[in-house]
Amino acid sequence: MPLIRVDDLLNHARTAGYAVGAYDAVDSNFVSAIIAGAEAARAPVIVSFAEMHFAHYDFPVLMAAAMVAARRARVPVALFFDHGTGLETARDAIRHGANGVMADVSHLPFSENVAVTRSIVAMAHAVGVTVEGEVGYVPGVAGEDAILHPGEIQLTAPAEAARFVAETGVDVLAVSIGTVHGRIRDEIKLDLDRLAAIAKAVAVPLVIHGGTGLADEQFRALIARGVTKVNYYTGLSDLASAAAAAALDPIDAGYTAGLDAVRAVVAAEVTRTCEIFGAAGRSDAAQSACRLWQEDGTLLRGN
Ligand SMILES: [Zn+2]
Repeated sequence: MPLIRVDDLLNHARTAGYAVGAYDAVDSNFVSAIIAGAEAARAPVIVSFAEMHFAHYDFPVLMAAAMVAARRARVPVALFFDHGTGLETARDAIRHGANGVMADVSHLPFSENVAVTRSIVAMAHAVGVTVEGEVGYVPGVAGEDAILHPGEIQLTAPAEAARFVAETGVDVLAVSIGTVHGRIRDEIKLDLDRLAAIAKAVAVPLVIHGGTGLADEQFRALIARGVTKVNYYTGLSDLASAAAAAALDPIDAGYTAGLDAVRAVVAAEVTRTCEIFGAAGRSDAAQSACRLWQEDGTLLRGN
């Protein structure tokens, strides 16, 4: 299928009361597994590429592969540039095919966060690309990604969120209401009243980072209060590591046994989480609700 507009997808999710999983891919095996998992659930899906992972793969090469996979998919797919550090990397990501970008600059003072995010919005909107901004800060605690998100948690203030959306023009907003990046140590306490107040204060769909480790009912509580995109990576990474270790021991099983095992567990976890998020079975409805998107930002059809 052609790529779809991320803003349309998330607005559809918000209206229909579900969330779309946004899963970070770190190689083409992950891309295949994420799409296969979404196809099994008949769910729309976002495949993300986090700038902090670029040290581990060749981003332009992987985006080219992801573009082929997305167009071949039987469910609507969007390709998202996750945790972008500024205007230049966001522009590069769009050139390579991303149709959504995150401006990850909420650690800066508010006025600088607004200025950088606004510059990304102006550039991205000119070519039909959706922008996710962030107010507040979601830190890391443990596991592969934790070290990449240093600092203390800063919860999102509803009034500041409203100002940020008005001043930047972002299409979707990542909020900090208790989740953390990485593997959680203790049960996460979500500030659901804060989330409800933010959802009341802003008109755009909301995003939760650090989805790994939340209980099913916590996901449902988030979605009931306006969360429409859940970023999920550590859960995939932990399952993939364990599956690869098991498949490659003894080592004479061969490297491809590890690839197959990783693809199977990642796909199964994507299917499982799409069901929890309420995205399962939504692929056809999402497809007809979303404008299509192509690399030059031209809309293939409007509705
Ligand atoms: Zn994140």
